[in-house]
Order: sequence, then structure tokens, then C-alpha cells
Amino acid sequence: MSSTRYDPYDFANRRHIGPTRAEMDEMLRLIGAKDLHGLIDETLPPDIRQTERIDFGASLSERRSLERLREVANRNRLLVSLIGQGYHGTTMPPAIQRNIFENPAWYTAYSPYQPEISQGRLEALLNYQTMVCDLTGLDVANASLLDEATAAAEAMAMARRVSTSEANGFFVDRDCLPQTIAVVRTRAEPLGWEVIVGDPFRDLDPSRVFGALFQYPGVDGAIHDFAGPIEALHEAGAIAAVAADPLALTLLKPPGAMGADIAVGSTQRFGVPMGFGGPHAAYMAVRDAYKRTMPGRIVGVSIDSRGNRAYRLALQTREQHIRREKATSNICTAQVLLAVIASMYAVFHGPEGLKGIAVRVHRDATRLAEGLEAGGFEVEPKAFFDTITVKVGAFQGLILSRAVEHGVNLRKVGTDRIGITVDERTRDFVIEAVWRAFGVERAVDAEVWPESRLPAPLLRTSDFLTHPIFHMNRAESEMTRYMRRLADRDLALDRAMIPLGSCTMKLNATAEMLPISWPEFSEMHPFAPADQAAGYAHLIEDLSRKLCDVTGYDAISMQPNSGAQGEYAGLLAIRRYHLSRGEPQRTVCLIPSSAHGTNPASAQMCGMSVVVVGARPDGDIDLEDFRRKAEQHADRLAACMITYPSTHGVFEAHVRQICDITHAHGGQVYLDGANMNAMVGLARPGEVGADVSHLNLHKTFCIPHGGGGPGMGPIGVKAHLIPFLPGHPHTGGEGAVSAAPYGSASILPISWSYALLMGGRGLTQATRVAILNANYIAARLKGAYPILFSGRNGRVAHECIVDVRPFVRSAGVTVDDIAKRLIDCGFHPPTMSWPVAGTLMIEPTESETKAEIDRFCDAMLGIREEIRAIEEGRIDKHNNPLKHAPHTVQDLVGAWDRPYSREAACFPSGSLGIDKYWPPVNRVDNAYGDRNLMCACPPPDAYASPPPVAAE
Ligand SMILES: *Cc1c(COP(=O)(O)O)cnc(C)c1O
Repeated sequence: MSSTRYDPYDFANRRHIGPTRAEMDEMLRLIGAKDLHGLIDETLPPDIRQTERIDFGASLSERRSLERLREVANRNRLLVSLIGQGYHGTTMPPAIQRNIFENPAWYTAYSPYQPEISQGRLEALLNYQTMVCDLTGLDVANASLLDEATAAAEAMAMARRVSTSEANGFFVDRDCLPQTIAVVRTRAEPLGWEVIVGDPFRDLDPSRVFGALFQYPGVDGAIHDFAGPIEALHEAGAIAAVAADPLALTLLKPPGAMGADIAVGSTQRFGVPMGFGGPHAAYMAVRDAYKRTMPGRIVGVSIDSRGNRAYRLALQTREQHIRREKATSNICTAQVLLAVIASMYAVFHGPEGLKGIAVRVHRDATRLAEGLEAGGFEVEPKAFFDTITVKVGAFQGLILSRAVEHGVNLRKVGTDRIGITVDERTRDFVIEAVWRAFGVERAVDAEVWPESRLPAPLLRTSDFLTHPIFHMNRAESEMTRYMRRLADRDLALDRAMIPLGSCTMKLNATAEMLPISWPEFSEMHPFAPADQAAGYAHLIEDLSRKLCDVTGYDAISMQPNSGAQGEYAGLLAIRRYHLSRGEPQRTVCLIPSSAHGTNPASAQMCGMSVVVVGARPDGDIDLEDFRRKAEQHADRLAACMITYPSTHGVFEAHVRQICDITHAHGGQVYLDGANMNAMVGLARPGEVGADVSHLNLHKTFCIPHGGGGPGMGPIGVKAHLIPFLPGHPHTGGEGAVSAAPYGSASILPISWSYALLMGGRGLTQATRVAILNANYIAARLKGAYPILFSGRNGRVAHECIVDVRPFVRSAGVTVDDIAKRLIDCGFHPPTMSWPVAGTLMIEPTESETKAEIDRFCDAMLGIREEIRAIEEGRIDKHNNPLKHAPHTVQDLVGAWDRPYSREAACFPSGSLGIDKYWPPVNRVDNAYGDRNLMCACPPPDAYASPPPVAAE
């Protein structure tokens, strides 16, 4: 340790640190530690401590930080981008911007695993799924995927699962977006599938493929009926997927009507700004027969214990953390907030409004085309929706740069054509500017509506968005109240601590959030010329440098847009490293039994075979088992994947040995960085011996969870892996893992602001206090509940596992009962049954105040007393507040024949009097929902009848 120790409490920036200095002293006394430094010395193994402090300057005030962000934003030059290629200008309705996008009730929520406190966002997601099913003409949709390109890769993987064809090829329409083709190639390569790119009407040989992907409309604007190729595919037992633009689908025949099995696409242009590439919600919809093999989360309808309608995630047993080695997709964090925004855009506009937007977009594209044709240019294709391609021969460069001079970016197509994609925001002066760039002097005649150029045989004849939710009164008061009602049903960080283990749920400070609304960040096209995105370049470079400092790695790739995608990108880098050294046989990946489910799933996606390493009774990795398996597979060892501190919330003492053993047998070490909140400033993965890690910026670095996404999962690597980081068709190089070169770039200002506000010292202090808060909870609860694992000196890291399994025997109380009872106390339940079945994992983070942590501990201790009452026979084993939790307002009315009072039911210790959170439903019946699967909005008559009133 450095000898120049400074005052452990000396950190002026209070925003992110919950306990005051005096409270910290009190907490340290309770846990029996001398001071904060003493606690850290007791907790972390000395041989992993970093020797120098992270150093990136002093912490900034909010005002200074915002000024820095403003300077950087000003270096982005915002032009009108008609580049298209999957990204379009769009307008987020102000009502949605203020009430959802900028509303912490929506953006600070966690993934909806606890349905009783997630009814609002679950309803919004059900609207989203209904919207996707209606537009695509397919039966079941999921609640979002990461981006269009990864959704296409998921469609390919799903086609392999369900196709009856023995063939090994996957056909990709050459009209697919270039980034989609790149990501599909990346996904196919390690699995040994052959990607065949060509013209679906000339080059497709159905006998050679297990599936095919078509783009509708194509990247250059062409619109084809794929019914013929789809029928041929089906005859050969192959699967047909169509990547479709949802706005075009309001006017065009849906993929389902062409016989497609799967549809994928991006809902970005439904009100979500381009954001230099993301985040946006991708969609996937499938035929009913394939719903059980679909990746991602699906929201379904079920009932609660009173028989009232309730939403919850359907088919949870399919979740990857249960399937583990059998997993076929690693999707965990998705794009919930963006799916909510897109669904609200559809609710806001309704089907007529969406069609109106599409018609205007088409009118403007047609006007643009006519003007160019009148000027003597040849425009392709003959029938189009929003995209045209113009033959310009040798004038390509000149016209492109003249367009930029007139404030418009157009797309370079080949060497002699220019692509133009019109969007919702295209105005007459933009059309005129484009004409001028082509040398056509002309004015838009607003009186004249050009004749439609949509392909007549492909016009949509079916209705969509017929459900009443998409037909509410268009007065904004109605919409505002709807969004408010849904928000009020949910428990997010703006109301109470979310003590989730593993998924660090910390403060998302407002000063960090403000810049992402600025147009300079939010409206940049990901493929805009580099000189227009200098601000982004600076931000990405500086944040990368800071993350290198934090992690001890040599380079960062910002491309992965979730933690699981980071794992995938990191393992691909390891794979390509072994290949480059002529060791293709290195495909075994050692993964401890306690690993997060995404680890084995990502390994699987990289063509690796997973060998599970056991745990000792104290929870640590079984070092002997690890050594044995590393030796046994020495010739084939590719990697090990470990999480540090472990998923058990402990700094294991022998992490260095695990790295050494792996390296000695020729393997590489992947260190899952999801628990970096316990390491920042104290230990660096790169110095502990790891070769590559991902960081969950939506855990450690303050990007909010958004109710289940967005996220960012950049990876850091040691120098020898730099050549194997993902490339991208736009910036060069192979192996793209995301649609955009820098993933969900527009949320990076949040993490950068956090680093600026905290400075290196502040970040380190946050880590110390996170460890203090966790140890304080463990100390307060340990008399009432066993703490399952601890490390050196009995200390836990930044989280702890509370063992509630003994109460099943002693009182018939399950982990669910305790979790749901915490809702009555006004808390989001902790992580349940992971990584150990039947336990609760609790992580307070540094952001929580002592008062809030005490309130939580009081609630837990109160619940322990309720369990004791059952144990001692003072209350019935089946009829008690734990079994009936959570309680709703309906429990306050009607007959009451329970052996405990309504007060005890609704106001247990920890609950907040007049500020009490009332869950909108009683306990949700998961099994009922899976037996009666319904994944779209219930039919209107279900709304007509009032929900059944309390009947006991
Ligand atoms: C959250 C988490 C992941 C996955 O991250 P996502 O962003 O949800 O994909 C992986 N490993 C661990 C230990 C995690 O906690």
C-alpha cells in the first residue's frame, strides 16, 4: 500500500456516497473495523491490491462537468443525415421525452423479474409485443433484442434450432444492411455455418441452407415479395427470416403474409433518436410453433392470487441462467426503455398517425426522386418506400461533398451511385438542398402530391394496432396520465433502494443524465463522416483511457452493447488469438459452477465446450478441481471464465493462482467484470492476471438499467489481444458483434460524466463505501439470518448472500415469501435464488444512505420475527402475512378473516406511512401464465369488464 494515506473520509463529493462521515464511523464500530482503510485491508487479499492510485485528475463540480460535456458536444457537428442503412431521423414526442425518457421512474427501474412491482413496464412491453406482432403479421414477439444486426444473428441461430434441413448454409440477401451481414458472419464462423450472400431470386439454392434472411425494403430501396423464395425454403425444410422496417410495414404487406417464419428489425425510427448507433430496441417475432425457442424475454399475461389479471415474464424456465451449458443465446440485458419508448410512440400516434407519417415519408421520397429525374438523373428502384439510389458516375465524390456543404449527409453506394433515405423529419428545404447538391435548381411545390411509387401488389391490406390501447383519446392529458399511471405501478430507484446482488443498482445522477438529451449526442448518425463526430471521438477515447486506468488493460472496445455481448466479444478475441497461433484445437472453457448463466452461454456461442469447475463448501472455486481439469484439458484449453470478486460476494484468495494455472496450460483468462464496483481503485483485473474483461457500464458506471436495458459492455484487453478486438464494416476490420461501431454510444456521456464528477479518488471512495455498506448489512442481519459465504477475516465484498433455506423446514417459509413480503415493506426484493437456490443476494452499493440501509435491515429483521411467530406456532403456517404477501389496497376492503390485522398486513416494519408503495397486484401465479400462454394485449372485452373484486 502507498504510504501517503490520506484521510479516508476526505471526499467532498457527496452525491454518490450515501453515509455521512459520522455514520461511517458508527457503521465501522458495529462491524468491528478500525476505520475504512482498515476494513479494506481486512477484506481484500494483499497480493491483488493495486499499487498506484487511479489518476485522472480532480473531481469536477456538476457545473464544471456539464461545461466539459457541452464543450465536447459542440465538437460534434450535426448535419441532416439521409444516410439510412438502418438509422433514421425521428421525433420523440415531447410528452414521451419528458415523461419516460427523462423520468427516473422509468429509467431507474430494474429488469421485471419481480412482476408485482413491475406491472407498469410489463404493460408497456406487452403493448410493444402487440405492436410488433401486428406490424409483422406474426404470432409471438419478444420484448426486445439488442440491435437489428444481432437480432438477425439470433434469427439465424434460431433457424438452425428449428429447421429440419441437414444443410449447413445460411443464405443472406445481398440487400441486407452491411452491418447485419457482418454480425451474421461473426456469429456463424465459430459454429461452422457457411454464410452465402447473394440475390434471393437468382442465387438461393434451398437445398444448401437451413435458413435464409431477406431485407424488406432492401438497403438500396428495392422492395420484393419474398413469397416465392420462402415457399422454396419451406419445401426444403429451411426457415425464412425477414428483416423489416416497421414504418414501411404500416403501408406494405407484412412478412407473415409472405409466409415468413421469423421477422426481425429495429424500432429506432419509432421515436428513438439515432444516438450515434444506439441504444435502440430491436424486435423479433415468430410463428406460434417456434415461440418456445425464441431468444430474449417474453412478457405474458397471467393472474394474481385473487384471480385478477397480472403481467409477468413468460416461460422463465427457458431463461439462460437455468439452461446454462445448453443455452443457445446469451441475451440478458436487452433494450427495455427503448422498447417502452417505441411502444408509446405507437400508442401516441395510433395506426392512423403512423400511416400518416409513413405516407409523408413516401411522398417526400417520391418528390425527391421526381426532382432528380426531371434533372436528368436515373433513379432506382422503380418502386420504393423511403430510399432511392441515384446513378452519378464520376460525380459521386463531388455530389457527396456538395451535399455536406448544404448541410446534408448522403450515402455512398459503390463507386458510382448515391443513396438517399428520407425520414419523418425531412423538410422541404432539405429536399431542395439535396437537389442543389445534384445541380438541380427547383422548389418543392407543396400543392402537388406526387403519385405513389409503392409497389401496388405489395400494398398492405390488413389492419394493425386495432387494440383499444392504440386508440385512446389523442388529447395529451390522456397520454400523460397513462404514462404516469404505469410509472406509479412500478418500484424503481427513485422510490427505494433496490438491493440486488450482482446487478449493481446505484445512483444515476441527474447531472450525468442531462447530456444524453442534447441533440449533438442524440441525433448523430452512426455512419456520419468522422469529422462531424469529433466530440464523440474525444469522449470515447478519454473514457477508454480512464477505463484502461481503472482495469489495468491496454485497450478498450466500446462495441459490445451489453455485458453478455462483452463476454462474447472477449471470448471471440481469445478464439482468434489461438487461431492466429496455429492452435485451433483450443476450444475448452473452464467455468465455475457459480458463474452467471451468460458465461457458459457466451462460450457456447463461440463454439467452445464448457467444462464446469466445482465449488468448495465455503463457496470458493475448488482449486484442486480447477487444476485437475486444466491439466486434463491442457492441449485443448482455450480459456477460463471467472468472476471477481466471486458471484458469492467474496474476494477469493487464490485468484492469482487460477490465472497462473490457466496460463501455464496455454489458456487465457476471461474475468467477468460485472462486480467491478468492488474493485475500482483497489485492484485491477489486468494486474491480477486476467487477459480480458467486460465492464457493465450499466452497473458500475452509472448508466441506468432502464427496466432491463439499455446497457453497455465494453471489453478491456491486454496488448496481445488488441489485434483480435471486434472490427466493423464502417470503421474497418472483421468480427463485428454489434450493429454500430461503438455500440450504444449515446449513453457513454453518462459514464464519462460519472468519472469526471468523481475523479480517481471519488471512484475509489465509492468502492470502499460499497464494501462498507455490504459488511454493515451482513453484520446487522447475521444474528437473524445466516450469511452464506465470507472471505478473509469474515468480511464480504460488495454484496452478501443471506441464507433463508432453513425456514422452509422450520416454518414452511420460502425465499419467495420473504421476497414478496419485502414488497409490503416498500422494497424491491433482492436477487432471488442466484447463485445459490433458495437464498437472497443483497448489494446495497455506495449510493444508499445509512437511513435507507437501516430501513431495509429493519424490514428484514421484522420479517424474521414473523417467521418466528410461525415457528413458535403463534400463527398459522399457511395463513400468515408472508404467504399472502404482497398485500394490495384490495386487502383493506371487504371481508377479513385472517389471523393477523390489516395494519400488520400493509404496514410492516420498514414501510413508509403515507408514502407507502402499494403494489397493483397480489402475488402473481407464474404457472397459470405458462399454461395459458398469452403474449399480446388481452382482447378488448377483457378491459370492458371490471376486474373481479376481492373475493375470499
Ligand atoms: C449482469 C451480469 C452479466 C451480464 O450482463 P448483461 O449486461 O445483463 O448482459 C454477466 N455476468 C455477471 C456476473 C453479471 O452480474
